[in-house]
Amino acid sequence: ISRNVSTDEQISSPLQIFGKAKKQINEIFVDILSYVAEASERIKDVNDKCPNVINTNELKSIIDYEFKVKGICEVLTRDHMKVAFFGRTSNGKSTVVNAMLGDKVLPSGIGHTTNCFLQVEGSQSGEAYLVTEGSNEKQNVESVSHLAHALNHEKQLNEKELVHVYWPKDRCVLLRDDVALVDSPGVDVTPHLDDWIDNHCIDADVFVLVANAESTLMVTEKNFFHKVSSKLSKPNIFILNNRWDASANEPEFLDQFNSQDQVRKQHMERATDFLVKELKVCTTEEASSRIFFISAKEVLQARVQERKGLSLNSGALAEGFSTRYMEFEEFERRFEECISKSAIKTKFLNHSQQGKHLIKDMLKIMDTIYNRSQEQKNLKLNEIKKCQEKLNYTEQSLISITNEMKMKIHQMVDDVEDKVSKALSD
Ligand code: GDP
Repeated sequence: ISRNVSTDEQISSPLQIFGKAKKQINEIFVDILSYVAEASERIKDVNDKCPNVINTNELKSIIDYEFKVKGICEVLTRDHMKVAFFGRTSNGKSTVVNAMLGDKVLPSGIGHTTNCFLQVEGSQSGEAYLVTEGSNEKQNVESVSHLAHALNHEKQLNEKELVHVYWPKDRCVLLRDDVALVDSPGVDVTPHLDDWIDNHCIDADVFVLVANAESTLMVTEKNFFHKVSSKLSKPNIFILNNRWDASANEPEFLDQFNSQDQVRKQHMERATDFLVKELKVCTTEEASSRIFFISAKEVLQARVQERKGLSLNSGALAEGFSTRYMEFEEFERRFEECISKSAIKTKFLNHSQQGKHLIKDMLKIMDTIYNRSQEQKNLKLNEIKKCQEKLNYTEQSLISITNEMKMKIHQMVDDVEDKVSKALSD
């Protein structure tokens, strides 16, 4: 099955390439499904009419293929790009998620420590609700305070659990384009890092370490990413040095170094060493587009203002706001390219290979059945031919026997006639 890539739709963000690829592969699998379903119907029909042509294994495989393709189609519709945020408590993970969503979706700040995993994804129905692990119940969420209240009152929640927060797709571009954002409890509060990775991160396309620009990378933060990279080959990791606005306004902190540039240089070197030398997940050149200095709080504030119809920078701003805002946008651009590429590769490559194998196997079985039916047809034709020859021979024999008999009878009649006429004349 071949399908042309249509070029008529405009792509404005790399995330849309994922959406387009998903649409195309979905359409291909819908075609495969109808082909497999038709083949399975026909095979069942042939089996009813000629029970000895198809063996039970072949019949079972063809029916199984139909289920498999249906399964892949279902997984495909649920496939999304996933980004997971980690870091120590209060580094600003929830604020970064909110800034990227452009709205206060997750509760953040004092008294709102995220004590379980929260996955924000687009809601198909347009309603905002949450679903806790192991439950199908949709709890309506009208606002961020409502969500905070609901999370605080979920007694059974623990740090290993995952709560799905479904948020209207039309409110955030990332959600519309099928990105799921996972906020985590602080890496400093758990001894269960392995379980976290196995349960919630193994399928993440991108990891974002939200670090505090006012301090250096902590051992707990580094440990977590060492574990991630031992379980996944070359994970995509971004490091956000958050609260960059605070360090800009912190003369005591800056006094130790001469300028913010120097602080930046030192953070950059350490973070680069961590990604390149310790984790070995990227090259030094790549690291420069993986490490950013941002203020999630400022970006969130500005975007909330913008939503209200006010200008981006209408609030009281710390020095260097526009540069930090632009750096956040640069992070988002790099992030979008990276997550879209990674998700297409990990999710769709696998599906398309499965699809190809399935069709190949199915073709092989159909070929075997076809060849067997041809053999059986030829055998039957041979049998018919032999019967025909026998019949011909019998027919010939009968003709010659009949002719012989006829001659003999004629002869006998002639003899009798002769004898009678002789007797009469005597
Ligand atoms: P989390 O525990 O990592 O999810 O951290 P939160 O997102 O809840 O943030 C903790 C506190 O830090 C909140 O009061 C935020 O408003 C504040 N915060 C987050 N990002 C920034 C930032 O870039 N600059 C400043 N000054 N404060 C921030």
